[in-house]
Amino acid sequence: MSVERLEFKTEVKQLLDLMIHSLYSHKEVFLRELISNASDAIDRARYESLTDSNILENESGWKIKIIADKEKGTLTISDNGIGMAKEEIVEALGTIAHSGTKEFLAALQSEAVKNNPELIGQFGVGFYSSFMVADTITVLSRRAGQQNGGGVKWESTGDGSFTVEDAEKERRGTDVILTLREEEKRYLDEWQIRSIIKKYSDFIEHPIVMDVEKEQDSTLQKGEKVKVKEEETLNSMKAIWLRERSEVSEEEYNQFYQHVSHDFTDPAKVIHYKAEGTSEFTALLYIPSRAPYDILFRDYKIGPTLYVKRVQIMDHCEELIPPYLRFVKGVVDSADLPLNVSREILQHNRQVEIIRTNITKKVLDTLGDMKKEQYEAYTRIYKEFGRVLKEGLHYDFSRREAIADLLLFPSTKTGEEGILRSLDDYINDMKTEQEAIYYITGTSLAEVLHSPYLEAFRGKDYEVLVMLDDIDDFVLSNFEYKGKKLQSITKGDIELDKAEKTEKETAKKQYEKLIDLMKDILKDDVKDVRPSGRLTDSACCLVADEGDPDPQMEKLLKAMGQEVPSRKRILEINPAHPLFASMKAIFEKDAKSSTLHDFIRLLYDQALILEGSKPKDPAAFSKTIARMMAENIEKGGE
Ligand code: ADP
Repeated sequence: MSVERLEFKTEVKQLLDLMIHSLYSHKEVFLRELISNASDAIDRARYESLTDSNILENESGWKIKIIADKEKGTLTISDNGIGMAKEEIVEALGTIAHSGTKEFLAALQSEAVKNNPELIGQFGVGFYSSFMVADTITVLSRRAGQQNGGGVKWESTGDGSFTVEDAEKERRGTDVILTLREEEKRYLDEWQIRSIIKKYSDFIEHPIVMDVEKEQDSTLQKGEKVKVKEEETLNSMKAIWLRERSEVSEEEYNQFYQHVSHDFTDPAKVIHYKAEGTSEFTALLYIPSRAPYDILFRDYKIGPTLYVKRVQIMDHCEELIPPYLRFVKGVVDSADLPLNVSREILQHNRQVEIIRTNITKKVLDTLGDMKKEQYEAYTRIYKEFGRVLKEGLHYDFSRREAIADLLLFPSTKTGEEGILRSLDDYINDMKTEQEAIYYITGTSLAEVLHSPYLEAFRGKDYEVLVMLDDIDDFVLSNFEYKGKKLQSITKGDIELDKAEKTEKETAKKQYEKLIDLMKDILKDDVKDVRPSGRLTDSACCLVADEGDPDPQMEKLLKAMGQEVPSRKRILEINPAHPLFASMKAIFEKDAKSSTLHDFIRLLYDQALILEGSKPKDPAAFSKTIARMMAENIEKGGE
């Protein structure tokens, strides 16, 4: 029998390093993680045994056994679940399956996180957390239903590598044997184990058992007591979601949340209800108080855990919830679905459809109530999940209005105080003559608030909503809320009143030839040059044509891997700015003046800077400016 030594993948090494060296204050969660893995393994075995009875190997009854051996200093968590074959164990306990691990670990190296190790919990610490308390971890496992194949032994001291070898194992399933560090031997105490299990794993639906010593009356000697070892079940196994709301304490709800979400914070909201009628099911759902780091990753696991009559079917059932509510965690227990329901069946099942519709409405209603009744708590979670919720505007046409009701935005009205405004707030405060709901997109509130695009709107005292999420323009550009169109102020032609139209016509005539020259010089860069309806102080700005994506959206589309043809924008000039009168004077004297040409290029570069881009040729830009400054000084710097 040969022993193979293999290296952990880099991300595992990094995680181990963090685990072992950070002053993590919740070390006890290692037991919760191992029990949770054991319980998942049993769920899988039970599920597979529905169609393949070999899995059972004639042994019925599922359980997780905890064995504390004080002499050896080991704590064993043993399950009779699905088990792992050699190649499975190498894969499962040598890598980390979560995507974005690298980015996340890089973030974890930062000082802020080092001082706040709780953040590791966000990652779903899993199996490797045991290295916080153990010097050596040994895993003995055998795949259920493969008695002849023998088992496998995996071992590691958490130092960058692990060994695997063939090993005998009689019972199916997995034993995780922790050789505890000297200073962590407290986890061998019966009382400690009891209390950790009560705290984190009480509702695990399989029995978690341990042999405990009890005193009994002796049958041989009357009046004498003898000590006997007896297996005791340590968890109540009560499915918390099947209990009455009034019977479940806040603490129990929170602990169950931590169990299903692997989050360490308490949830922001608990939604627990029973549906009867066309579909009978119970849902215990949670709105977390913060977003997991990977919620925007493509392979983020969506959906509550699905149970059918208390039997766990799968832990992320994405058919039960629309992706824009993917932050919702919890369980759904259906009384109508068949026990052997498969993914394929779930995709076209009417019951599932009913549950999904019902849950979607319930979650949106709950958010709506929170917005009305617990505004502060609502804004806190909105800041975490608003970005995800907005996806619903695009994907759930029938609920667009309900979703739009929930949206909040920073605005020019509340400025940098950061107070958020809803679309309703906006409509209530609209000027009578105002036609649209105006918005501006950008990446930072402070930057956007100084944007020249806002000048004319400020002048008229029109509120402009500030949109800072990448998808804002994508989901809102063709949106109408309560009969009012949403309009980006960086796109299309803007006329805030009728008088402006004639003003613009006059300016157009007045500057016609100069504008033609500008168009000619900038013909490779812009599709048009025209007088602006949005500027009052600044000289110029770039705008997208109506219907074209704005720069934010172009970035988003590129990030999604789409080809984005670069679309030319429109340069708008402010004819009221004294610069144009001077330029016109130069033009009339000498249309070929090189100064005039420089000015035109500089104007375009400035407009690029204002929208957050770089000048086309930064070196040339700065050279021209420096030259002009020198010339100005030569002339006496007036
Ligand atoms: P997670 O449980 O989040 O996937 P872990 O690091 O805790 O991450 O576990 C990694 C993988 O190892 C699991 O996904 C599972 O495939 C496997 N595994 C862990 N413990 C057991 C067990 N007791 N029985 C069977 N497989 C297990």
